[in-house]
Amino acid sequence: MDAQDTQLRSGSSARIVPEHTDVVVVGGGMVGALTALAMARCDLQVTVVEKSAASAFDVNDHDLRVSAISHATLQMLKAVGAWQDMQSVRVCPYKRMLVWDDASSAETWFDSTNIGHQQLGFIVENSLIQTALWQQLALLSNVALRCPASVVDLSLDQDMASLTLDNGDVLSAELIVAADGSNSTVRALAGIAVDGERYDQHALVATVKTKLPQQDITWQRFTSTGPQAFLPLVGNRASMVWYHSEQRVSELKALSDAEFIEAMESEFPERLGGVEAVERRGSFPLQWSHAQQYVVPRFALVGDAAHAVHPLAGQGVNLGMLDAAALVQCVIDGVSDGRAIGDMRVLRRYERWRKPGNALMIKMLDGIQRAFQPDHRSPMQAGSLKVLRTAALHLANDITPVNTFCIRSAMGLSGELPELAMGRLPSTLSNPG
Ligand SMILES: Cc1cc2nc3c(=O)[nH]c(=O)nc-3n(C[C@H](O)[C@H](O)[C@H](O)COP(=O)(O)OP(=O)(O)OC[C@H]3O[C@@H](n4cnc5c(N)ncnc54)[C@H](O)[C@@H]3O)c2cc1C
Repeated sequence: MDAQDTQLRSGSSARIVPEHTDVVVVGGGMVGALTALAMARCDLQVTVVEKSAASAFDVNDHDLRVSAISHATLQMLKAVGAWQDMQSVRVCPYKRMLVWDDASSAETWFDSTNIGHQQLGFIVENSLIQTALWQQLALLSNVALRCPASVVDLSLDQDMASLTLDNGDVLSAELIVAADGSNSTVRALAGIAVDGERYDQHALVATVKTKLPQQDITWQRFTSTGPQAFLPLVGNRASMVWYHSEQRVSELKALSDAEFIEAMESEFPERLGGVEAVERRGSFPLQWSHAQQYVVPRFALVGDAAHAVHPLAGQGVNLGMLDAAALVQCVIDGVSDGRAIGDMRVLRRYERWRKPGNALMIKMLDGIQRAFQPDHRSPMQAGSLKVLRTAALHLANDITPVNTFCIRSAMGLSGELPELAMGRLPSTLSNPG
């Protein structure tokens, strides 16, 4: 967000940030912004510290980064009042997902009608999600926006937390939430260790104009060089993700548009139709990471600051949004029970709620990535893996309870859901629900 723009939209050019606030959220990405907005909608005083002065969403442009947002994330965006603005700009619903293994041609269909829903989710540009959340934040008098600003120091104790910004300002709060991404500075300042590993794979992402009209399917194919994904966007556009070795991704990035289209058309499945033009290209290194603790006194991690997953199933932001919703729920329930906002009993409930499920998702996605990894194995191992993969894809396609379980998990409908994920704010004393 642009600092001046933010101040104008917040209706005050001389906003004074309170020295003390209930919650400081560091990182105003999608997860941080949702956390802050939900806390503020529940009447808490919130300050957001965001280091990048990103430009406002340009409707004539298309963001390279898009996310497949789940039903649960959709409910949260509705509950905090950000969805309507996003929908009025552009969001692309998808009803079906097709996953197949190139080595065996075994395939699995996931269809939202199997569980009585209109769609599995929506593909939305990341900058549109962030802008819609920031626009709502800027309307609230109990929110202070510090952007661009970043954190250089942190102090935590049982009674209070404080942090120092790069301009020397000190903010104190009952609770500090780190939502500053997978290389979180505040997580390091809090002394929280992280497990993780870089994948031997990068993601090449491109926005392309397609010859076929808009589809309602996301496609995912596993090939011997890595997965390939094709996500529909509004109009005849799509976002393609091509996972490959770092070297191949650099080569693909260096091709001219015409050469890139030729490479895509020869290596992507024919059934996707042709590509008319490439609008944007970029690449991302991939990793998994998991913080050893999500909470310490007066401090909590959410989103990629807590965990990063392989993006092959499009779950990263959705997991982060569920973290945000669970944390807000724990804090609001704690306050209703007379506890302090940053009380360790409140924060431990949040950690118990989210950490095991996130750990399982990291392991599952890591396992899928390895099962379909380019083969450096003996022919016998590769053959056994192929049999297993084929069996798994048939199981997920043919056995209805397995198919619906997978759909419900991807839509964020399984497990204990926070109220936000059901489309409502947690009840507070002024909003009894
Ligand atoms: C190729 C690819 C495709 C993906 N596709 C999907 C998908 O389809 N669906 C999905 O759910 N997920 C997807 N993901 C994952 C998703 O993008 C991430 O999980 C998500 O962006 C994490 O959001 P976040 O808000 O936690 O962190 P980030 O998006 O990293 O945001 C962190 C914010 O903190 C700010 N910040 C950083 N340091 C500081 C500091 N010191 N002080 C102040 N501010 C700071 C940054 O400027 C940024 O705004 C994908 C990832 C990749 C790589």
